[in-house]
Amino acid sequence: MRYISTRGEAPALSFEDVVLTGMAADGGLYVPETIPTFSQAELEAMAGLSYAEIAFRVMKPFVGGEIDDATFRHLVEDAYATFSHEAVVPLNQLSSNHFLLELFHGPTLAFKDVALQLLGRILDHFLAKRGERAVIMGATSGDTGSAAIEGCRHCDNLDIFILHPHNRVSEVQRRQMTTVLADNVFNIAIEGNFDDAQAMVKASFADQRFLKGTRLVAVNSINWARIMAQVVYYVASAVALGAPRREVSFCVPSANFGNVFAGYVASRMGLPVKQFIVATNANDILHRTLAANDFSKQALKATLAPSMDIVVSSNFERLLFEAYDRDGAAVRDLLERFQHEPTVLAEAPLARLREQFSSFSVDDATILEVIREAHARTKELLDPHTATGYRAAERVRADEVTPVITLATAHPAKFADAVFKAGIDEVPLPSHMDGLLEREERYQVLPADLEAVQAFVAAQRR
Ligand SMILES: *Cc1c(COP(=O)(O)O)cnc(C)c1O
Repeated sequence: MRYISTRGEAPALSFEDVVLTGMAADGGLYVPETIPTFSQAELEAMAGLSYAEIAFRVMKPFVGGEIDDATFRHLVEDAYATFSHEAVVPLNQLSSNHFLLELFHGPTLAFKDVALQLLGRILDHFLAKRGERAVIMGATSGDTGSAAIEGCRHCDNLDIFILHPHNRVSEVQRRQMTTVLADNVFNIAIEGNFDDAQAMVKASFADQRFLKGTRLVAVNSINWARIMAQVVYYVASAVALGAPRREVSFCVPSANFGNVFAGYVASRMGLPVKQFIVATNANDILHRTLAANDFSKQALKATLAPSMDIVVSSNFERLLFEAYDRDGAAVRDLLERFQHEPTVLAEAPLARLREQFSSFSVDDATILEVIREAHARTKELLDPHTATGYRAAERVRADEVTPVITLATAHPAKFADAVFKAGIDEVPLPSHMDGLLEREERYQVLPADLEAVQAFVAAQRR
């Protein structure tokens, strides 16, 4: 399997290189040169298999033989053994035709574990094979950092440095990162805000000389392996409800669009998906683009669903590439204009997107209302991200006959403050969080100064 850039100029890469590379040299994102497909019979045969077995079958064509089957199967089984639910990602029926897909049973209680538990293991495998080591650097305002740390803590060939803004992440989120005391895990608390931390990570990727030849690897959602791992739960949940003989719809709380793009890939592989509903919070660039053809940046708003607080949706580029018939030059032109000014999509690509994608935006007051209402109606506690999806699914689903699967992207205990705000005073903590508030922490406070951060990374990596 070869991978090509959405901007049409960077060289095609193998799976191994694409996982180790991150962004393409032309500024684009890598996608498979051809999207593999499954026959009706192959999909039918997946019903009833374990999650790990479905994962192996769905991802195998993307790996393209670059990891032997026995090894890959082992990596997949190992990754999903860290989840606390027997079904890994169980389906929970809310009403006659509305289901929640619970993606939050991993070590850090958010859906990013599904991809990052596997990505760490794949990276470690390729590095061991090459006899190389690599450094991971990332900035986080919450979810991604802890999921990346949990995914890499057992990796022999990786050192991971996660920057978070000092005193500006919640205590639970900080402790999920800083209580991991593995030798290869380094938490840096930056005396600044998230943008300062992000800017230093970007500058480090742009000029890696401070690492003297050691590779720097990105684990954000531009890494193809994260998308690939997320395709699996669309297939697993749909076949559990009767696909491919029965169509399903998905509703996805969205920000950088990595999650819902994985669903689109599943549909291109042969899964019959009637509708994708893109739910956003008040940071609604995806909704404005799909509903009103307003593809423009707006100022960041802090919301009750902070993991969906974004200005630009990086993985939307991968969908644009498909909507523009894989015309890399057209995508490059559109995104260069978008950087500088409000813009619009061309008519034909937008019409193509609207055939399968609908959208809805949910503000903070509505998030609280939905948490209350869903609890009263179904006894389920929704986290504020999942609440945007719940409302969007009920408002814009195409019909009542097709089952809608709303993706539950985080456990309510992870965002308990919003649940309390909604007037619910008890949020049970899952057992693997027991003792989190008493555990020893380790982190380094550093000024928002690029040289100081790079000197720390260069000195501490093993
Ligand atoms: C990251 C995240 C999202 C957004 O996912 P994207 O792939 O960026 O669209 C939604 N909910 C939660 C809880 C998240 O952590």
